[in-house]
Amino acid sequence: MVNREKLKLQYQKEMQLFEANNPKSKELFIKAQKSLLEGVPMNWMTKWAGSYPLSVVSAKGAHFTDADGHDIIDFCLGDTGSMTGHAPDIAIEAIIERVKKGITFMLPTEDAIFVGEELQKRFGLPYWQFTVSATDANRFVLRLARQITGRPKVLVYNWCYHGSVDETFATITADGKVGPREGNIGPQVNPAETTKVVEWNDIPALEAALKDGDVAAVLAEPVMTNIGIVHPDPGYHDALRELTKKYGTLLIIDETHTMCTGPGGYTAAYGLNPDMLTVGKAVASGIPSAVYGLSEEVAAKVIKAIDKELCDVGGIGGTLAGNALTMAAMRATLTSVLTEEFYQRNIPLTTRLMEGVQGVISEFGLPWNTTQLGCRTEYWFSKVPAKNGSEAAAACDFDLDQYMHLATLNRGILMTPFHNMALVAAQTTEADIDKHTAAFREIVKNIID
Ligand code: PMP
Repeated sequence: MVNREKLKLQYQKEMQLFEANNPKSKELFIKAQKSLLEGVPMNWMTKWAGSYPLSVVSAKGAHFTDADGHDIIDFCLGDTGSMTGHAPDIAIEAIIERVKKGITFMLPTEDAIFVGEELQKRFGLPYWQFTVSATDANRFVLRLARQITGRPKVLVYNWCYHGSVDETFATITADGKVGPREGNIGPQVNPAETTKVVEWNDIPALEAALKDGDVAAVLAEPVMTNIGIVHPDPGYHDALRELTKKYGTLLIIDETHTMCTGPGGYTAAYGLNPDMLTVGKAVASGIPSAVYGLSEEVAAKVIKAIDKELCDVGGIGGTLAGNALTMAAMRATLTSVLTEEFYQRNIPLTTRLMEGVQGVISEFGLPWNTTQLGCRTEYWFSKVPAKNGSEAAAACDFDLDQYMHLATLNRGILMTPFHNMALVAAQTTEADIDKHTAAFREIVKNIID
């Protein structure tokens, strides 16, 4: 259906348009190359569609303004870090108040207690700790799991992403074994030594991997979101919980993205019962921070296993973790931003966005599908939604992806960079969504026969 010649031509046209529209961002990018590696603060920013990333000046709610003065509808929202909407008033007020009174002490503030109690209510786990990033939260729970089970391995799903956590950059290789994921930079050991990998939704494979009794923990997003949105089959979570219990493996649920499902993430919405839970990104309205929760049983074992005299150099750290600023931001975010009402408003809007895209897919008879999880939706280049990471990966189409992102951006709409994913924020409007639907229709029409 997609005409590759047209795609190539249109992509070139969109590139020219991008360059013509964004001279100031270009100028800043050229200047940045003199002091920043490849002209960007983080290497993955080179991957944005267009020949350089847009330079942002300011943002509020679901829009931002770039250096060339464009008003852009933001469906990327910092890949969930700003799922709250940019600069939410109540969180900003709390942040400013706190900053005036000191940011970081290595001592607790009362806000931390409020946050702990709120997390308890939302996710059901009794004890909480704080980190600087979701990556750190995942690293630390894997360490704790190995420590208290005395087992060497962890299990993750093929094509998962849990941040830059060494053990998780493993994949099922062509010969069915485990090896480093393509692009894995300088792994200290072959992740086959640390990690088992199975396909999402494959219960027999999960049991086969767990039954040797050497797996400390399964680390799972409750719905895969980093290779498209891949939902669990009915009953998969029950099987995952039963099998992990049966073989003495801890279950860690990573809610960093799936927090888009509701106030207590997918865990509360679907009654999951993990031993440990991590969540980051949006929990403090974008102030770098994350949390991990522990069950009663795990907490008791952790307390026993950690030596007080050595705990500051035990591999679980972060001088800035749990500081006064992040606690104030988290308290305000959980009380006043990521509320029940937030989800009640945004989930139907997300459905509108998905239906708009689905309408165009149906109109043109394209072999593409759409999925939704709470206030997150995505379109994917396969006829039916994937059942696991490999199926989803097989439908990736880099050229098409780049074109869709670039052409959308040229029409004033930012999608999440490495997916065709959109998040709806508190201030996203129906008009924003309908603008996306119209742009999507136009750019698709330009590349099909
Ligand atoms: N967990 C999941 C599910 C993620 O998608 C990500 C990042 N995309 C992380 C953890 C890591 O987050 P961070 O890069 O903020 O540490």
